[in-house]
Formats: sequence, C-alpha cells, structure tokens
Amino acid sequence: MTEIKLYNTKTRKKEVFTPINADNVQMYVCGPTVYDRAHIGNARPVIVFDTLFRLLRHVYGESHVTYVRNFTDVDDKINARAAESGRTIGEITQETTQWYLDDMAAVGALEPTHMPRATAYIAQMIAMIADLIAKGHAYEAEGHALFRVRSYEQYGALSGRSVDDMIAGARVEVAPYKEDPLDFVLWKPSSAEQPGWDSPWGRGRPGWHIECSAMAYDLLGDSFDIHGGGNDLQFPHHENEIAQSKCAGHGFANYWMHNEMLQVEGKKMSKSLGNFFTVRDLLDQGVPGEVIRFVMLSTHYRKPMDWTEKKRVEAEKTLYNWSKHHLDFSVAEQVPHEVVRLVSDDLNTAGAIAEIHKLHSAGQHSEVLAALRFLGFFDEPEELLGKFAGGLLTQLSELELFNFAHLLTQARQTAMQTKDFSEVDRLKTAFIEAGLEVRMSKEGVELVPSAGFDPAKLEGLL
Ligand code: AMP
Ligand code: ZN
Repeated sequence: MTEIKLYNTKTRKKEVFTPINADNVQMYVCGPTVYDRAHIGNARPVIVFDTLFRLLRHVYGESHVTYVRNFTDVDDKINARAAESGRTIGEITQETTQWYLDDMAAVGALEPTHMPRATAYIAQMIAMIADLIAKGHAYEAEGHALFRVRSYEQYGALSGRSVDDMIAGARVEVAPYKEDPLDFVLWKPSSAEQPGWDSPWGRGRPGWHIECSAMAYDLLGDSFDIHGGGNDLQFPHHENEIAQSKCAGHGFANYWMHNEMLQVEGKKMSKSLGNFFTVRDLLDQGVPGEVIRFVMLSTHYRKPMDWTEKKRVEAEKTLYNWSKHHLDFSVAEQVPHEVVRLVSDDLNTAGAIAEIHKLHSAGQHSEVLAALRFLGFFDEPEELLGKFAGGLLTQLSELELFNFAHLLTQARQTAMQTKDFSEVDRLKTAFIEAGLEVRMSKEGVELVPSAGFDPAKLEGLL
C-alpha cells in the first residue's frame, strides 16, 4: 500500500499516516459560515482537502473514507446580513449554501460524505456543554455558558502558545460574567429577534466553536484521523475544539493539517484594496474552474500563496496545451506512480504538476490525463474541450487552430471508415491556402501558421 506522509501541526513533524481503521479513514474539515459567496481564499482549503480526500480514496478505496465538512448556519454575521437585507436567516443560509456547493463543484471538489448544518445539531451541542459543566470544565453565568480555559492544562499546545502569551497577544473579550478573560463562549443568550433555542441556560444560541466538537463526535465518534482547516483557525478555533472535546473525554483528532493563507497580487485580500473577489466572479469572467484549481495546486498548501493574473494566464495555457491532446488519447488505467508518490508526500501537488509537465513532454498523453484526473481535473474528460472553448482562450487564435485541427481529425476518422476522403482533402486545401502547414501523424493533426497566414480565409469553415 502507498505510504502517505502528512505534516502534523500538533507535533510539527511530517509523520507517516496510520489510520485508526483502514476500512474507514475519517477526516473533518471546518467549513464556511454561510452568509456570502466564497471568496478565492476560501477555495484554498476546499481544494487542498479535496485533493487529500481523493488521495485517501485512491489508497484506501472509495467507500473506505468518510469526509465531514460542516456549514455554520448560525452566526452573528448571518443575523446582521438578514437584518440589513430584510430577508430571513433561512433564505440567506439556504441560498448561500447552494452557492457554495455550486462554486466548489466548479473547482472540481467532490462533495464530502457528510455536510452537517450546525442548526441541525443544537441538541448535541447542548448535551456536550451540559457534560462540560458537570465535569467542571465549563460554567454558567448570566445566561451564558463559558469554557474554563485554565481547567485544560494543554490549552495552546496545538499552536504552540502559552496561555499567558495568548492573553497578551489576542483580542480576548473581557466581560464581567467571565471568570477569566480567556474563557470562551459555549452558549449565549438571544433576544426575541435573534435566533434561539431553549436550553438549561435559557433561550439562546451556541458560540461558534462547540459545533465542530459536537458534530465530529456525532458523525465520526470518539476519535478520528485527520482534522483540517486554514491556518487562521489554529487559534482560537482549533485550540477551543480540542479543549472542548478532550475535556468531554474524547480522543478527537490524531493529525492536524492547516493550509497557509492566500493573498492576491502580493497583498492581503481586502475589499478596501479592491483586490477582493469571489470564486463566482472568476467563473463569470469565463475562467474555467480547472484553472482556479490548477493555480491553487501549483503552490504547496503549507506555503503562503499568491493569486496573480500572471499565474492564472499561465495555468490556462498549460491546461489548454495538455487538453489539446485529449481527442486522440484515452485515460491510462494506472495513475503514474511518481505522481501518486509525490502527492502522498505531504501533498506535494507542485511536484506532481512538474511531473505531469515531464510526462507531457515525453508524449505520454494518456498518463497525463490519468494524473490530471487523480488530482481532480476533468472528472468528465468529454467536457474538457467544450469547457476550454467557452473560456478566455476563445480569444486566442491558438484555440481556433485547435478547433480546425479537431475538424480535420474528425474528418479523417470518418474517412477511414467510409473510404471517402473528399472532406479531408477539402479541409486540407483550405488550410494550405490560408497559409497553414498541415502536419498529420498517428498522434493527431497539428496546424502550424506560416508567415502569410490569413485567418480570414478560414471563415465559414467551422
Ligand atoms: P470562514 O468562512 O471565514 O470561516 O472561512 C472558511 C475557510 O476558509 C476556513 O478554513 C479559513 O481558514 C479559510 N480561509 C479564509 N480566508 C482564507 C485565505 N485568505 N486563504 C486561505 N484560506 C482562507
Ligand atoms: Zn471547526
């Protein structure tokens, strides 16, 4: 079996991955808060952990991997969006959830096995909070339930900070009802207009962190293999998840993985800098989802990544160039070993892409396609050409050439059967008259423009 190595944030080491149960490898990744379109940074963890999901399925078998990614559908940002738009919370979360699923499908992400919504797990959260209070790790104060951070000795171990450093560095909320400024909210009271549920501490709603502990326990059990999310979630979110779950007596996650942040053109993305955009913005501009995925996977997930227009264009050219050969080749049965080995080495997707470049140069087109599909590109290879033809590449004359070459390839295929080569001859003559050199080989057809190439002469042919 392929050996997988993963960098574990908890130990700060790359470790050999050994699942608790190879028949059911389990992974939990923190999902989005649903009140707006996913921005391009939000797509990074989705694509990274989708690639890991695909690798695990490849190694352990498709039906032997369980992947949970939640939807946070109770949050003050959602309440604010509802208030300012005059729409209901339900409308906003439902619409945004569907947007998210559509946009992430467009960048080639498989749907996780389970996608729990926080509001469907309120009872489980209340039970966990009650248990933490009973065990002395949490307390009730003025309609709130709060986690007693200093009751968990290893608090801070994941991100490698001491409790005292955290107080100094973090924007911890000081509130009169807290025993300690570091204590975080498990439950808070709701006003009549705010969404709320009855609980032993009055009508209220959960704090953010408890949902992941409660849903992971409900869906994955006492212990599971991998927990993932963006770097920004290490503290406080993941520290809090660990504290809650460990103090409730659970094993929780064995391997912690974090992707680094994405910037845009060298700057932190922000609406005020004007470099903020969503996945949907790019798709609407005609950027194929594969291009977004390709740019993401070109940088190792533990390195900061810079989204640039230059990379976008390069990715588009590369994918276009590779996909050109698709018409004449089929998918290899085996994903090239070296590609699997590289991805198994802590998701070295940049290395895998370099390897695909080599395979392409060596003319191993069916291996190129097998490797690309393993990385989550072109689940439907038949759609590949259409997707690229609809994208920005239509502006390039190269694409037109490709389409003409495709026409000739098809005509040749038909002629082989009918033995009528008149259409092949007609096309060849037209191409040559327009100033194209026609190269026909077993591999396919290539059209190379010569100095006097005049595209106008080809009008009406396609
Ligand atoms: P949020 O909806 O803000 O909780 O974020 C959802 C996911 O996107 C989390 O895993 C975040 O870590 C991740 N994320 C947010 N911003 C970025 C960014 N600029 N780069 C990479 N990941 C991000
Ligand atoms: Zn979480």
